[in-house]
Amino acid sequence: MARFFGKPWLPLPQTSVPIQQVAIIGAGIAGASLAQELALAGLDILIFEQTLVPATGASGNLAGNCLPIIDQRPDNPYAQWHWLAWQHAVHWWQQQPNREQLGQLTGAAKWSTHAKTQAGWQAWASRYEDSLVQWMDALPLPHQPAGLWFPQGGSFYPRRIVQHLLTHSNIQLYTQTLISQLAHTGQYWQLSSSQGLFQADAVIIASGAQTSLTFPEWGSLLQLNKGQVSHLPATAWNSPPEFALSYGGYVATTPDGITCIGASFEQQAPLGLTDSAHLHNLALLNQAYPNALSSDTLPTQGHSAYRANTYDHLPLVGPVVDIEPYQAAIRARCHQPDTITDTSAHLLPQLWMSIGHGSHGLTSAFLAAQLIRQQLLNQPTELSLTLQQAVHPARAIFRQCCYPK
Ligand SMILES: Cc1cc2nc3c(=O)[nH]c(=O)nc-3n(C[C@H](O)[C@H](O)[C@H](O)COP(=O)(O)OP(=O)(O)OC[C@H]3O[C@@H](n4cnc5c(N)ncnc54)[C@H](O)[C@@H]3O)c2cc1C
Repeated sequence: MARFFGKPWLPLPQTSVPIQQVAIIGAGIAGASLAQELALAGLDILIFEQTLVPATGASGNLAGNCLPIIDQRPDNPYAQWHWLAWQHAVHWWQQQPNREQLGQLTGAAKWSTHAKTQAGWQAWASRYEDSLVQWMDALPLPHQPAGLWFPQGGSFYPRRIVQHLLTHSNIQLYTQTLISQLAHTGQYWQLSSSQGLFQADAVIIASGAQTSLTFPEWGSLLQLNKGQVSHLPATAWNSPPEFALSYGGYVATTPDGITCIGASFEQQAPLGLTDSAHLHNLALLNQAYPNALSSDTLPTQGHSAYRANTYDHLPLVGPVVDIEPYQAAIRARCHQPDTITDTSAHLLPQLWMSIGHGSHGLTSAFLAAQLIRQQLLNQPTELSLTLQQAVHPARAIFRQCCYPK
């Protein structure tokens, strides 16, 4: 049975089959937040990671910023999703007993060197309470730029967060296990892997930038963009930053005193640390924050990974359709989508995904995990249908099919 509101070509199933065992493909922050969310709901979780340890891909950074996106269109789903995601991530962090080990959400400063951008941000901030965001004529930094202060913004430590999320007695982690194929037997999913066969009632794809390995059609909907952060010791600073900074680039400090500065955006670049990306990160910082560093020494350490972006910068979160029959069903009605009445037959049984978190996975992954838990267990959600359909994975197939280019 499916719900038919909003856009009927983006069906949301109502689960009627009991589910006990869920397999998750990928142990980055998207997979790990799902694992904990579902384990806490009493389900048994098998989570598969192809590498030796979890959080080696995009979630392998030591620290990253946990901040909302600034968007002047409050009713726009992009603005709504990322604002709610940030608030949800902050709430999650506040609930963790060992939160200091997982992040530092005790303030973040954001500024721009462009006067027009600053003016827009000031107007944007005036819509929210001071406890969420404040406009300041002089941020507490030596060069006192005007900008935004987020009292609950700050840094997350994704590697530590992933490790923490996977620590639950209902979660079984299989590392060095590449899932290569899925097949539904009519009753359950069978997963073929480099370590043999597994089975589960439901499967969630959380394979980030490596989605193409096993699901080439879904992977082809993601644009991969290399990012590199550079690591600086505390001694590299004239005065080490006491809170997270965002200025086009960002600064996030780890509990060990290492500051991560980043991040480069490189199209079609191979992975691996490069001096040019380190130089880019330093140049961004020097431009926005003059005399921050005590020397111009080039960093030698850092982390690089691919971000997996979607065309509309919203993640693909929700139930998965069988692409070919789905395309066949909608193709003839592309120009009158409102005449499409039922596409729920093309939903694959108990197959879900949370991919395409782009540059904002440290916030977006948590809201995605909650939404999938609610959809999978047929629980109420406070997210509007519009928002659920805005992140529905099939929207990207619909667009590719009906509006190519
Ligand atoms: C340099 C850089 C800086 C960033 N800074 C920030 C920031 O400051 N704030 C922020 O919010 N976001 C930031 N991001 C984005 C954020 O890190 C990502 O959105 C997030 O980590 C994506 O998580 P994920 O779990 O989807 O992907 P990943 O972390 O890449 O995890 C996917 C995992 O799936 C595994 N996998 C894939 N296929 C298979 C398979 N078939 N079988 C088994 N395992 C498989 C992979 O090995 C990988 O470990 C940054 C990203 C980069 C690259």
